Amino acid sequence: MKRACDTEVTPESRSLAARYSGRTVLAVGAHPDDLEIGLGGTLARLERSGARVVMCVASIPKDYDVRLAEARRGAEILGCELRLLFEDGPRRLEDVKTYELVERLDAAIRELEPAALFTHSASDFHNDHLLLHQACLPTQRLAYFDFFAYHPTNCRPVPVAFHPRAYVDITQTIDAKMHAITAHASQFGGRNLDTEMYREHAHAQGRIIGVPYAEGLDVMRMLLS
Ligand SMILES: [Zn+2]
Repeated sequence: MKRACDTEVTPESRSLAARYSGRTVLAVGAHPDDLEIGLGGTLARLERSGARVVMCVASIPKDYDVRLAEARRGAEILGCELRLLFEDGPRRLEDVKTYELVERLDAAIRELEPAALFTHSASDFHNDHLLLHQACLPTQRLAYFDFFAYHPTNCRPVPVAFHPRAYVDITQTIDAKMHAITAHASQFGGRNLDTEMYREHAHAQGRIIGVPYAEGLDVMRMLLS
């Protein structure tokens, strides 16, 4: 007789593809380039797995046209849809009232009904990133969705207290991630910064779970069914 515990759990049924295939996931970042740096490999994997992936950029503080074009290119490389939380020109997140930020995020959640939301971590060090993290928290009241935070995003390495609880194997998409990051030329080549540290970081994350490249996520809320 077959017991319940004999039921086979295949790798596919536990995969990221099975969890979000055919569903929408929403990733929000404070600025162009944050999503590519924080979880570009994960977003590309989700898209290749059949999920609709919406990359939502909250603000473009300056150099609007250049950075918008770079954001479009980055999203295109990852195969994702790009949205702006505010489409009316340059602005700083600090100039936006918190309630207005929450209203915009609420509207995106209501419209897209995402199966998962990805945002900045509470361990981040950039105030705009922390503002967006805080504004995402109340959206959880609207509906159930898995909720993850990605590694603090930075152009130069700095110490952060981020402890991933989940890892995504991005071996198949590390090249897309690196390509998408370099699409933000004004932030890297334009400032004499190199992007290789992101590949090294993904390699170090991969070592933890025994794959060539990975991205770590903090699990804020997740349904185990
Ligand atoms: Zn940023």
